[in-house]
Order: sequence, then C-alpha cells, then structure tokens
Amino acid sequence: MDWQYFVGHHLQREWFKNAILHDRLASTFLLVGPEAIGKRTFAKMIAKTLLCTNSSPAEFAPCGKCEACIQIEVGTHPDFIQIARDQDKTALSIDQFIGREEARMREGLCYEIRMKPYSGRRKIAIVDDADTIGVEGANSILKTLEEPPPGSVIFLISTSLQRQLPTIRSRCQVVRFQGLSQEGLATLAMRQGLTNDADEANQIARKANGSMASFHVLLDEELREFQGEMIRQLSERPMDFIKFAKAIQANVESAGSESQAKRERLKQLIEFAQQHYRAELRDLLHQSGISPEPKLQCIQRCLEAKEHVDRMVAPAALIEAWSADLAAI
Ligand SMILES: [Zn+2]
Repeated sequence: MDWQYFVGHHLQREWFKNAILHDRLASTFLLVGPEAIGKRTFAKMIAKTLLCTNSSPAEFAPCGKCEACIQIEVGTHPDFIQIARDQDKTALSIDQFIGREEARMREGLCYEIRMKPYSGRRKIAIVDDADTIGVEGANSILKTLEEPPPGSVIFLISTSLQRQLPTIRSRCQVVRFQGLSQEGLATLAMRQGLTNDADEANQIARKANGSMASFHVLLDEELREFQGEMIRQLSERPMDFIKFAKAIQANVESAGSESQAKRERLKQLIEFAQQHYRAELRDLLHQSGISPEPKLQCIQRCLEAKEHVDRMVAPAALIEAWSADLAAI
C-alpha cells in the first residue's frame, strides 16, 4: 500500500511530511484518536516512508513494493518492532518491553530498539494498545522514551490522552487523529471488501461515527435484520421462492468482491434458515398430531446446500434450487 490508497488524515500526513523534509522528526509520538480509524496503519506508512529502498524519506512516497515496504507490511522487517496486547491479556506486559524474566534486558522493545539498524537507517517501533500500559510497563519504557536511541522513532497508539500516565504523556509528541469522514469510511469498507454495494456502504458509514469498528458492528446489525426478513419470507404460505432467492442473491453479492467472502456469506444465510427450521422443529415436538417430517427435510436440504457451497457449485443455481426446494417441501 502507498499513501495514494491511505484514507483520510491529510493534516497529519502534511505535518509528518514537513517534519521529515526539514529533518525535524521527533523520536517519540503518541497517536491519539478514536478506535479503528487508521492510526496504526498511519504509523506503518511513516515506517515505510522512512525505510523504503525505492524512495527517499523526503519524497514521502514509499513504493509499497520493495522488500522493506513488504516486510513492514507483514511485520518481518528487522528494523521494525511492533508490540500489541496479547488477545487473552488485559494489558501490555512488561516482558514485551524489557524481556521475559530469564532474558531481562536481552530482548523486548527497549532492547531491540537499541540494536544497530540492519538497514543502516533507523529503528522504528509501534506500541499498539498503549492505553493498557500500566505503571509497571510505563516504568520499564520511560528510560527509552526519555533517551531514545539516535534516529529511532517510537509510536504509541492510544484512544485517549486521559488514559496515559503523565510520565508517558510528557515524554511524547502528541498527534491527534479525528474519526474518518463518511466518504472515507465507505471507501475503506469497499476497498476492504466488506461490501461492494456503494449505497449500503454509504448508509452504514453515515451511522458509523467515523470508526471502522462501528462500521463492522453496524454491518453485523444489517445482517441480523436480513435474518429477520429471511425468516418472515420462509414463514409465508405459500412461500414466494423467487422473491426469496433474489433477496439471498443480493445479500450474497453485497458481502464483497471476493468469491470466498460471498461463499462464506451464503453459508451464513443458509445457516440462518437451518436455525429457523430447527426452532420450528423444537416447537412441533411439544404439539401432537403434526408430522415433523417436512421440517426435518428442510434441515436436510440446508445441510446439503452448505455442502454444495463447499463443493464450489455456482451460487446462483444453488440458491435457486435450494429456495425452490424449501418452498416445495
Ligand atoms: Zn518501498
């Protein structure tokens, strides 16, 4: 990725561009702003700008294609250090800063950043989830923030200045980020393949308050709404299977441009139908005189349909046949 594909945050870009051009780049930054708006991606872009081997930092145009750019993207560049809170932990651990107990000061961010840069340029570190640095963690990183190795750049990613200990705050240059614009969010969502329906992307973006995290949640809500609509249609007698198939088709299309995303969505929708029949079956078991057979057949047909998705049967044909069969049972 290069800056051309980076969405939003133009002021911050200009600011860094200027600082790099005039060789006035500070060493420690606290990037502050709402969650999921691109702060980490921004820091990575700056890292690429500084380490790209196809363009000089002053050009402020990393190529996104050289080995250095790619290694930063995937997190394997020897001069690029990235730490984040472990998924199952509530905070960054001091081990991540100064190494495990048996290897104190011989590993971890504070150690690595002092190593000579392999690239001959500089070391760059990103500390994600900096809101969760506790007092212990702060104490272990203070010295590094206070006297950063020459040329090194450290980015702390935070959602709120209030959550930072004063000791950390006072040692960093604060850069504030705002939420993304509606247009920016919609562009990003389409580019990430979350939907390929521009109207849907815009509608959700309008409610998402500038954050991709909210966009994801709202997208899920849309899916829940669609689940409700599916169940209404499945319960109609007679069931309008053509209308049903069209609705399913449209929803699958909106899942993204990649066929893998579409197949996953289709399986999810078939699962919704199957859950509905299973619930009906459970209700039937409490009543006498009604055969559970049709519900069982519907469940069987859903299982079959999911198998067909896995076997790469063409989705359009699959959806039509599945819908028609459910209506006929
Ligand atoms: Zn490059």
